[in-house]
Amino acid sequence: MKNLVTGGAGFLGINLIKKLIEKGEEVICLDNLSTSTEQNISGFIYNRNFKFIKQNVITPLDIKIDRIWHLACPASPLHYLKDPIETSKIIFHGTYNLLNLAQKQNAKFLFASSSEIYGESTKLPQLESDIGKVNPTGKRSCYREGKRLAESLCCDFYRTFQTDIRIARIFNTYGPYMLKNDGRVISNFIDQAINNEPITINGNGLQTRSFCFVDDLIKGLIKLMDSTYKKPINLGNNEEITIFSLADKIKNKINSNSVLINNPISEDDLMKRNPNIQLAKNLLAWEPKVSLEEGLDITIEYFKRIKEN
Ligand code: UDP
Repeated sequence: MKNLVTGGAGFLGINLIKKLIEKGEEVICLDNLSTSTEQNISGFIYNRNFKFIKQNVITPLDIKIDRIWHLACPASPLHYLKDPIETSKIIFHGTYNLLNLAQKQNAKFLFASSSEIYGESTKLPQLESDIGKVNPTGKRSCYREGKRLAESLCCDFYRTFQTDIRIARIFNTYGPYMLKNDGRVISNFIDQAINNEPITINGNGLQTRSFCFVDDLIKGLIKLMDSTYKKPINLGNNEEITIFSLADKIKNKINSNSVLINNPISEDDLMKRNPNIQLAKNLLAWEPKVSLEEGLDITIEYFKRIKEN
């Protein structure tokens, strides 16, 4: 089985590639290293089943391939807001180019969509049938509307050419290989706590999120790719926690001297995000297994290790 993983050097990509290589599969990693490091893939470069192509997904690609895992896109607001026009281009042109490749090669195609497509919808927990509520002209629209357009493109390729698509709506995920300066809450808090720097809580910290450990998420993606389901499906963990409790938990686990401080909260920050994962349970026989306690311990160990190196 020959796999193309776009964004393969990034957080989800590298965790997926590890699993595929463990299974003895061939992997081509496509990444322009804009929000990832070459160090992430250094462990694979001498593996004969691994090949790296340094290229942006905006440039079309023509290779023989059986499965395409299309993950490439800056995913943290810190990165995708640096150049929002480029973000829109990456999402549209990248998805278009890779869908064309999937159609030409008769390959299976999995698109990494996002819980961001639900926008400010207040229906909770979020269900696949919820069509969302997204501001088309806001700062984050490049990403939110981009992912919505990309889902639409996948469905049109399926309706027009019967391209073998899958759409995963990925909720907050964390774990090893996150960049410490990714700007996401778990990587920020762990990095701050390890360095005894103030832990930056946006707003009063009463907003909640549900965090999925990356190993669980990758298992979900693999199960989805192995299925024949063509419509969007939520993948995430539904164990909810306030951002304040998360900060407190991480500080205690690290035994840190950090103080908790409150920063202003941005207007598009959501008060709650929680996936309904019943569809994934029924269709894929998938559900997250790793608790937040366990997952945080593994992630903290990872951050401590990379700090020493
Ligand atoms: N957050 C925070 N401090 C940080 C980074 C994030 O309090 O240093 C908050 C952020 O405002 C949001 C939550 O943590 O309410 C989750 O943020 P993240 O960017 O990880 O994910 P998303 O907002 O996309 O769910």
